[in-house]
Amino acid sequence: MSRSNLGTALVTGASSGIGATYADRLAKRGYDLLLVARDAGRLSALAEKLAKEQGVQVNVLRADLTEKADVRVVEQRLREDETITLLVNNAGVGPKGKLLADDADYLEKMIELNVVAVNRLAVAAAQAFAARGRGAIVNIASVVAFIPEQFNGTYSATKAFVLNLTQGIHAETAEKGVKVQAVLPGLTRTEIFERAGLSTDAFPPSMVMDVTDMVDAALAGLDQGELVTIPSLPDDQDLVALNAARMALRPNLSRDKPAVRYGVAAG
Ligand code: NAP
Repeated sequence: MSRSNLGTALVTGASSGIGATYADRLAKRGYDLLLVARDAGRLSALAEKLAKEQGVQVNVLRADLTEKADVRVVEQRLREDETITLLVNNAGVGPKGKLLADDADYLEKMIELNVVAVNRLAVAAAQAFAARGRGAIVNIASVVAFIPEQFNGTYSATKAFVLNLTQGIHAETAEKGVKVQAVLPGLTRTEIFERAGLSTDAFPPSMVMDVTDMVDAALAGLDQGELVTIPSLPDDQDLVALNAARMALRPNLSRDKPAVRYGVAAG
């Protein structure tokens, strides 16, 4: 039996790493859980453990989020199950290395998971939560959304998509009782690198955060009402300055004439 009225958190990519840690922390807060990923064995083991330890209801939904039919099932659950109050849109894969050496088919599959599925689930949740006047969406992006020069361009672009998507959804749903957050982790100790044939050992330890610290900070950011959370950023005013610079561009981003420096004569 549920021990709270927080509702159910649907966590994608809950079988390992960041998603499994969210599941643990949300169960401890008293959320019931719906855990989504491909590895049903790992999901069931985690579900059993969390239900037993935390006294919450934990269900498992096996889905390959690169498969359209599976995405539709999760999407339908978000739209129809009124107990769902939180989506942690987390499942994702990383690149195998630099773009020039990566496999184009692998990168396309990455877009299916990191962009197409994330978008479908975020849209379904945003529409359902806005209609109910209640709910929260946590989209897991990455700091590489801001530094595409230092990482595989396709992966960075998927994460920039997640960031923009979150900001756009926030603009439309903030007045409708929907809380939205983009989490931008830096390097975090999970299986993501090993799955792609890489290792976190390749990076200086001072750049790699433990997954529990990352998720605890991200949840604190959610509690504080942050739209964009960068767990490792020491001074949040740096993010405020970035947004101010972005907004300063706004009045000039769409005008009827090209800028003078392009030498395009009027008429
Ligand atoms: P992880 O430990 O490899 O976990 C990835 C999760 O996604 C697993 O639960 C995996 O479960 C699931 N998944 C993978 N392919 C899937 C598919 N086709 N369908 C459904 N689920 C799938 O990696 P992680 O670091 O926790 O990654 C979680 C998110 O954080 C990703 O979006 C990643 O881009 C982002 N992120 C990670 C870091 C980092 O340094 N670790 C930094 C920034 C952002 P199954 O294999 O059971 O399906």
